[in-house]
Amino acid sequence: MSDSPVKRRHTVAVNVGGVVIGGNAPVAVQSMTNTDTADVSATVAQVADLALAGSELVRITVNTEEAARAVPQIRDDLEQRGFTTPLVGDFHFNGHRLLEKYPECARALAKYRINPGNVGRGAKRDEQFAYMIETACKYDKAVRIGVNWGSMDQELVARMMDENSRSAKPKTNDEMIRQIILNSALESASKAEELGLGRDRIILSCKMSGVQDLIAVYRGLAEQSDYALHLGLTEAGMGSRGIVASTAALAVLLQEGIGDTIRISLTPEPGGARTEEVVVAQEILQSMGLRSFAPMVIACPGCGRTSSSYFQQLAQDIQAHLRERMPLWREQYPGVEEMTVAVMGCVVNGPGESKHANIGISLPGSGEEPVAPVYEDGVKTLTLKGDQIAVEFQAIVDAYVASHFGS
Ligand code: SF4
Repeated sequence: MSDSPVKRRHTVAVNVGGVVIGGNAPVAVQSMTNTDTADVSATVAQVADLALAGSELVRITVNTEEAARAVPQIRDDLEQRGFTTPLVGDFHFNGHRLLEKYPECARALAKYRINPGNVGRGAKRDEQFAYMIETACKYDKAVRIGVNWGSMDQELVARMMDENSRSAKPKTNDEMIRQIILNSALESASKAEELGLGRDRIILSCKMSGVQDLIAVYRGLAEQSDYALHLGLTEAGMGSRGIVASTAALAVLLQEGIGDTIRISLTPEPGGARTEEVVVAQEILQSMGLRSFAPMVIACPGCGRTSSSYFQQLAQDIQAHLRERMPLWREQYPGVEEMTVAVMGCVVNGPGESKHANIGISLPGSGEEPVAPVYEDGVKTLTLKGDQIAVEFQAIVDAYVASHFGS
């Protein structure tokens, strides 16, 4: 990984079931299931998939009695399968009742996500919020105070909008929304501290769906507090829209040293893998030089010199192969995540790019001799030809990993 010029902003470290968020810890990747939590086997399977993809914490919805009852079983089944990934419970409206009625659920979770806008109304709001915070204190759990602009505390909105309308220089609606979200998070965090929850048990988030809004609010949070921050664009969307919008927002903030854990809220394509959100989060961090998760495949975009789609297929196959191997390689070959593999479409940039990578292949472009030189550590080691190039190259990559990483 290249040296990163990013200076992380200081935040208080929070230990969430063994994963440290904030302080000097690396930015953690988290994700959320979309299974019915009451369906234990489906939820266990999806948490396991997300963990294998590299998610360091996984959030699950705890919205019903059946879901709350299922949580300890999910925790146990995961442990039996060797997964210690901390589980985060996502609570809305009835969280206080579920935590009270199902103490085993409260114990099995490593962190509770509380949305101050969805805790309750009127006098009950403070009471129910207090109950959840006291439960976190009792079981020594972390809490994420997660404000979402789609579900803001309506009493706070009314109060602040009213004050603004009476001020001599009223702010615009957009400015007010940002201010309300920020205040909601900071006021809730102060209340949690007054109730006895340590600053080292509190993480804040203020999720919005607009890139500029998100950047402005998190800059405000970073200026006004030292709580650990969870970053993410809410309702980012599907496919390239979701990936681009999330990357645009998070890259600006991460570059300023803001953000201790991230989640990418992608809407999966129908039938698409839930793990895509983990891959995107990792790729943002890895592209920025903040962390390394899996070997990077550098591939040229292809052009009129590309002789066929063969090289695109090879780049895709190699990428999939490396990701598939990572759960095992992470244990067996520490450091392999820093490796780069180049797959190039012709001799124009192929050999040069291949020489810069740990291992690279340059496929024949149109009009070139049908051979594919392979480079390892900058040196041409062999030339592949024929219709087995993909299989042979994969074997060469595996052998390179075995001989260069781990003991
Ligand atoms: S390496 Fe060759 S095929 Fe790839 S984009 Fe450059 S000129 Fe085109």
